[in-house]
Amino acid sequence: MEIKKELSTKKQIALVAHDNKKQDLIEWATYNKGSLSQHKIYATGTTGKLLSKELKIKIQKLQSGPLGGDQQIGAKIAEGKIDLLIFFWDPLEPQPHDPDVKALLRIAVVWNIPIACNRASADFIFSSPLMSSEYKRNVPSYADYTSRNLKERKL
Ligand code: PGA
Repeated sequence: MEIKKELSTKKQIALVAHDNKKQDLIEWATYNKGSLSQHKIYATGTTGKLLSKELKIKIQKLQSGPLGGDQQIGAKIAEGKIDLLIFFWDPLEPQPHDPDVKALLRIAVVWNIPIACNRASADFIFSSPLMSSEYKRNVPSYADYTSRNLKERKL
């Protein structure tokens, strides 16, 4: 059975951009500064540093992505502390932390977190009326998984 998590009008949003996508994110965030400033913003280290310099809004900066920042965001998602992930990842360049990138995208899907991986998706999400209203997000319970019987398996 799924439970519902109440999202208030003030959402908790994580912003991440790979190096070749940082300019894209800065332009998008500058355009959406008014809306972003209504929410609590988290970002990986370098992305956060650039955004706070450009936008002059409060941003909770985590570690740089390759140094654990992606995993910190993933942990916050698992703890129910992130409502929305804007992650402009680079499809044309391998990253030293590719396993972390995959893990972050995976855990966001596990917990039914909306994800935007490019500007068009971010525009669609940000123009949704749900951004400024309350929303009940389905949170999968995974009770069958967590209570699975391991004794029946040969470990
Ligand atoms: P950065 O990390 O914002 O510290 O550059 C982004 C990433 O590559 O995950």
